[in-house]
Amino acid sequence: MPFNYEVKCKVCGKTHHMHVELDYQGSDEREMGPEQFYYGEAELNCACGKVLKIVIEASEYPEGADLEIYNIDFENCTRVMS
Ligand SMILES: [Zn+2]
Repeated sequence: MPFNYEVKCKVCGKTHHMHVELDYQGSDEREMGPEQFYYGEAELNCACGKVLKIVIEASEYPEGADLEIYNIDFENCTRVMS
């Protein structure tokens, strides 16, 4: 499951395109069946020397529902809304 983001380096202001692939992490049994967890991260070396990073945690619950991103971190960068 690929997620694509435009980010801007907090240090030099350069924008980059980053691609995060989510991997299945396991599931927890809940009232309406299993909740499936996904995790993904991507790193990019900016020209200024900083490492830009995106970390995503997501889950699908109940089964068949849209994937919900419940945590997303942008390190050394900010998201650019297009
Ligand atoms: Zn930079």
